[in-house]
Amino acid sequence: MRALDYDVAIVGAGFAGLACARAAARRGLSVLVLDRRHAPGERVHTTGLVVKEAAERWEIPATLTRRVRGVRLYAPSLASLDLVAAGYYFLATDTPALMRWLAREAARAGARMQFARPWRGARRDGDAFVLAGGGERVRDIVGADGPRSAVAAGFGLGRNTEFLLGVEAEYEGVAGIEPDRLHCFLDRTLARGYIGWVVPGVHGVAQVGLACRRPAVPNLPAFERKVASLFAFDAARRTGRRGGLIPVGGPVAPFARDGVLLVGDAAGLVSPLSAGGIHTALASGWAAAHAIADHRHEGAAPPAHALAGTRPRYACKRALRALHDIGAPDAVVDAALATRPFAALARSVYFHHRGLTSVDGWRDLARTLLRGGT
Ligand SMILES: Cc1cc2nc3c(=O)[nH]c(=O)nc-3n(C[C@H](O)[C@H](O)[C@H](O)COP(=O)(O)OP(=O)(O)OC[C@H]3O[C@@H](n4cnc5c(N)ncnc54)[C@H](O)[C@@H]3O)c2cc1C
Repeated sequence: MRALDYDVAIVGAGFAGLACARAAARRGLSVLVLDRRHAPGERVHTTGLVVKEAAERWEIPATLTRRVRGVRLYAPSLASLDLVAAGYYFLATDTPALMRWLAREAARAGARMQFARPWRGARRDGDAFVLAGGGERVRDIVGADGPRSAVAAGFGLGRNTEFLLGVEAEYEGVAGIEPDRLHCFLDRTLARGYIGWVVPGVHGVAQVGLACRRPAVPNLPAFERKVASLFAFDAARRTGRRGGLIPVGGPVAPFARDGVLLVGDAAGLVSPLSAGGIHTALASGWAAAHAIADHRHEGAAPPAHALAGTRPRYACKRALRALHDIGAPDAVVDAALATRPFAALARSVYFHHRGLTSVDGWRDLARTLLRGGT
């Protein structure tokens, strides 16, 4: 039987795939990464905000980011509430440059990258797979190919069925944006099931976007008209547009089978409430690489067993997602914005990675309710 060409083929050079590739190569596995895009950072679909926990764990170079230390949350009436948490921050990123950096890191660790190579399937050959299109023999396949995973479809794994649709425009020259805040807009008409946002990004750009629950389609021009009453767009120039699906139905099942494993959005590992998926994509890619290396090199349990207990289940966030989908009437949100319980809940959503399933989340909630701080 022909020898293996690679230990692992990773489909998708996004956050999950590149974190997986780097860690797997560092563990001594030979790694091939395939992506249908022509180059890393091409046609980015995400806003690219990174939470503090991920920024620290992955040591993202400061030149690719800009710190934002709080959130300004707007009611439908545009009344606003500032939320900060001492020591906490978010990072706006130059996302195309961040993707190029992650790809360089993976290549530097030894992963072989093939862009402009869409996934065309694979067939079983003994205990290996043979990849269509290139004929490489590989032992394991990691599906890191995003919310509509072709790997999941091809191998009969679980698939995402519930989505938000997000769209965003990037501008230069918008004036009047408080630079140390993420500007988040609650509006049941324009952004049902999610929010609108204005992010003061890296290198002076502003990212203006919104998402809503499928099958609704976000109306970006209407949202831009709304925020134009707060920020000056007179000298603004549109420099880019991005958007895509965000899976919010929780982890897919099964997520692995016989040498094939899903990570990141392909595995449904996105917070159903905040819709943040970059942190979990990086972490799930990293964890998958180590589970594969432990299994292949150290005789540990198969990756699916090793990873099953470590995956977030999002039970609480999925319940809150159901409420968010219904959405409170705009008048109720307008009235609630200035109240302590509302501020406490908002702090928990924005500043605690595990929300009210974390001790910190409950401590903060109690403190805000008792003292009324924001
Ligand atoms: C509008 C929008 C805004 C968002 N904002 C944020 C945010 O600010 N912060 C946050 O944490 N999360 C955000 N998210 C979610 C976040 O972007 C995703 O959770 C994250 O990108 C998931 O990473 P991933 O590597 O799993 O998938 P992806 O980033 O989707 O990467 C998948 C890769 O697979 C490749 N691919 C797909 N199909 C194939 C194929 N058939 N063959 C070969 N290659 C293929 C793609 O080209 C891509 O490179 C946002 C999402 C959207 C849509």
